[in-house]
Amino acid sequence: MESLSHILNHLGEEREQYFNAVSPPVIQSSNFVFPDLDTFRASFADELHSHTYTRGNNPTVEILRKKLAALEGTEDALVFSSGAAAIAAAVIGNVQAGDHVVCQEMAYSWTSALLRKFLARFGVEHTFVDGTDIENIRAAIRPNTRVLYLESPNTMTFECQDLAACAALAKEHGLVSMIDNSYSSPLYQNPAAFGIDIVLHSGTKYLNGHSDVVVGVLCASREMVQKIFTSELMTIGAALGPHDAALVIRGLRTLPLRVQRSSESAQMLIARLENHPKVERIWYPFHHSFPQRELAQRQMRGCGGLFSVQFRTDSMEKMEAFIHRLRRFLMAVSWGGHESLIIPTIGFYNIPGRPVPEAPWTFVRFYIGLEDADWLWEDLEQAMAVL
Ligand SMILES: *Cc1c(COP(=O)(O)O)cnc(C)c1O
Repeated sequence: MESLSHILNHLGEEREQYFNAVSPPVIQSSNFVFPDLDTFRASFADELHSHTYTRGNNPTVEILRKKLAALEGTEDALVFSSGAAAIAAAVIGNVQAGDHVVCQEMAYSWTSALLRKFLARFGVEHTFVDGTDIENIRAAIRPNTRVLYLESPNTMTFECQDLAACAALAKEHGLVSMIDNSYSSPLYQNPAAFGIDIVLHSGTKYLNGHSDVVVGVLCASREMVQKIFTSELMTIGAALGPHDAALVIRGLRTLPLRVQRSSESAQMLIARLENHPKVERIWYPFHHSFPQRELAQRQMRGCGGLFSVQFRTDSMEKMEAFIHRLRRFLMAVSWGGHESLIIPTIGFYNIPGRPVPEAPWTFVRFYIGLEDADWLWEDLEQAMAVL
C-alpha cells in the first residue's frame, strides 16, 4: 500500500498541469471542450476516466477519488453528493426485482429505510440479522440472496461483524459483500484487505472532518466501480461538485491528526467516566467491558471518537437537567467534525407520532471532537452533578 503521507499530501496531484500550484484548483466547470473528433470519441469511450461532463468526472473530483481508492486499498473509487447516495448506489447496483439482501440489524437509519421502504417497492426482499454471530448471517442466506450488507462497528452501540468470515461466506454463496466503514475511517480499518467487495463511507464524518460538506464514498474494484458509475451514478446523478471535492481534499490532509486526537480524547474521557458513580455502562469497541472487544481489536487498528454511555439516575427530570447543563458538548446529529456532540435518547421520547425508542432514556451517544479533553471533562463533571 502507498504510504499514508504520500496519499494525503501528493497522490493524484499533477501540479505541472495547473501552474505548479501547491493546492489543486477547483475546476468549476460543468463541461469540457473536445479539440478534435479523436478526443471526442476517446472521451465517450471512457467517461469515468476522461473529462467530458462533471456529473461523470471532473479533474478536482478525480484527485479526491484517487486518494480515497488508495486509502482503502482498492482499484478505484467514486464519490457522491452524500453517504446515503453512495450506499443506495452500491445496493441498487447489485440487485434486481426478486433478489434478496441480508443486512446486519443495526444499520444506519436511512440504510435500513432503503431496504424496508424504498427497495421493497421494487420487489427486492431483505432480512435483518444479528450480525455478531456469523451463523445468523449464514442461516439468512437464500437462493435469491445477492448482497451481504455490513456496518462494523455501527455508530450507536458498535456491534461488529467478523469481516474475514463474512467475506468468505459471501464468496462461498456468490454474494457481493459491502460495508459502511464510516466509524473507523480508512485510518483504523480497511475491509477490502479482508476480502469485502465494496467499502462505503459517509465522508461527511471523518474524511472531510470539518462539518461543512455532505459527501459519500464508494471504494471497490475497477469493474465494480465502472458498473455502478455507468448505471447508478450517471442515471441517478448524485454527483459531488468540484468545490466540495476540494474541501474534502483539504480535510484529508489532517485525517490522521484529527482521528488520533478524537480517539485519544475519547479514551481519556471514558477512563474518567468508567469510575464515576453516575455511570451505569459504557459502549466502546476497545473498552474492556465490550463483548466483542477481541474481534474489534483483531480487525481494527484503532478506535475512534464515538462512544455511548448509560447514566445512573432516578428521574427523567434529572436526565433532562443534565443534558441542558452540558455547555461544551453541542446537541446535534452527525459526528466526525471538530466539535464534540451528544445525541441523547431522551430527545426521542415524547415526539408526537414517533414510537418510544428501544434504548433507555438514560442513554447518550457522544462524539469527541478536537477540543481539549480536560476542558470537555470539566463540562461533563459539572453536568453530572445534577444526576
Ligand atoms: C452519517 C452516516 C451515514 C449517511 O451519510 P450522509 O453523508 O449523511 O448521507 C451513513 N452511515 C453512517 C454510519 C453515518 O454516520
